[in-house]
Amino acid sequence: MFKIEQKISKSLGRAGVLITPHGEVQTPSFVAVGTKATVKSLSPEQVKEAGSQIVLANTYHLYLEPGEKIVKEAGGLGKFMNWQGPTMTDSGGFQAFSLGVAYGSKLSKFIGNESPKQEEIDEAYREERDKKAKITEDGVEFKSIIDGSKHFFTPEKSMQIQSDLGADIIFAFDECTSPHAPKEYLKEALARTHRWAERCLIEYRKNHPTPTLPEGEGAQRGTFGYHTTDSVTWKNLQQRVLEMREKPTPAENMLWQHLRKNSTKYHFRRQHIVGNFIVDFVCLEKSLVIEVDGDIHDYQKEEDKSRTEFLNKLGFYILRFKNEEVVENILKVLEGIKVGLKALPFGEGLGGVSSQALFGIVQGGRYEDLRKESAKVIGEMDFDGFGIGGSFVKEDMATAVKWVSGILPTDKPRHLLGVGEPVDIIFGVENGCDTFDCVAATRMARNGTLYTKRGKININNAKYKNIFEPIEEGCKCYTCKNYTCCYLSHLFRSKEMLAATLASIHNLYFINSLVAEMRESILNENFFDFKENFLRDYKV
Ligand SMILES: [Zn+2]
Repeated sequence: MFKIEQKISKSLGRAGVLITPHGEVQTPSFVAVGTKATVKSLSPEQVKEAGSQIVLANTYHLYLEPGEKIVKEAGGLGKFMNWQGPTMTDSGGFQAFSLGVAYGSKLSKFIGNESPKQEEIDEAYREERDKKAKITEDGVEFKSIIDGSKHFFTPEKSMQIQSDLGADIIFAFDECTSPHAPKEYLKEALARTHRWAERCLIEYRKNHPTPTLPEGEGAQRGTFGYHTTDSVTWKNLQQRVLEMREKPTPAENMLWQHLRKNSTKYHFRRQHIVGNFIVDFVCLEKSLVIEVDGDIHDYQKEEDKSRTEFLNKLGFYILRFKNEEVVENILKVLEGIKVGLKALPFGEGLGGVSSQALFGIVQGGRYEDLRKESAKVIGEMDFDGFGIGGSFVKEDMATAVKWVSGILPTDKPRHLLGVGEPVDIIFGVENGCDTFDCVAATRMARNGTLYTKRGKININNAKYKNIFEPIEEGCKCYTCKNYTCCYLSHLFRSKEMLAATLASIHNLYFINSLVAEMRESILNENFFDFKENFLRDYKV
């Protein structure tokens, strides 16, 4: 599921590709935050056009409203919100923290220079601790921010909700502690988070059982079910696959032209190798194989019986159509496929088994020993990737990330949770993080704070009233290509809805371009030049 393309020499950073059932993510990558299954003020098309490859939604919010069962019935998070690319959900743990312990106080994720005084912190900490969230060994009890009703999250419950929400990447349930919590408490919370991680894995395996694979037939469970054969078989059959793709039968070609355009709303692959077989078309997300029978050149079809048995054993469903059916009435065939897709549940069969990846979360606050211990314990567990969570002393974020990245397995992806300021991303990438999510880019945009290569500006500042230039000369975002500062300034002053949209497009584009340029610089082996240039101009 994760391929490293190029490492940054003398550092832990790398550029790679994260493979999910809904497409690939070129890393490093910034994950757009769509808290309630929408990136505020933007349509999915605008999010995509701003360069986003992947969207994260919040488990806590979607659980409260509209409820995970509704999202499941709608076809999962991506379908529900009409985002066709990869998706993530967080575990709900951070909200138990931010809407619980730190709720309403001055406490935040980072300890910055503007931190409140220690006495204020202790006071707030004591006051808020039991106000909205109560943490026990079993889980977290919290009050809904919507109606004050009581709810209880356990690691198991978080896994069940996230399984229903159906994102491509989900996170283990963790306790995100206050940056001001005493070390003794952090230790206790960390040990609990590690026990919760194990419980998450156990529950996850229940929802995603590993199928019994027929032996010796070259089948292998790969993360996401993308790798449905072993590398030797793949090499042997790949040439044949290419030939078949090169010279499809008229029926195959006709069907492919429809399937590739997403006319079924699902992603299909053609001539995909499963075990020793090449199937005509497959939707891994739904474990549905489509076979067009009667191809003259298909030598494999003679082994139809063993082929069917094999595929069924792996949990694939097979819909067969005759050549003539496809050629004579393609619409009827597509209708049949759509009905089949609709009837099939998510998360079953091989495609489904591996259609969600589970990331474990490393905690440990600002303490080196705790961070390293957490990286070791979580890193040894059977997760598909890792999230680095919790609070940092802002200036030391890079160091904390380095402690952790140095211990986590190198071949698995690492996500830095809730960090998305340009400078933080640069240091995060250098120290081994592949993906980042943060509400800051879009939240600040809605308040009129915009990124430029020289630092942030506030469009509400009076001087922008009569600047007839875009936010940033040379920025290729939709907003900068079409609008001036004075117009944006006017929209913000008039509290027009379009203000939030145009500003969000620019900020999202800015961050996405930053990570894309960083990726290029890693591939071209000049990351440190890029970093130096960026930091020289960018004023915090
Ligand atoms: Zn722009």
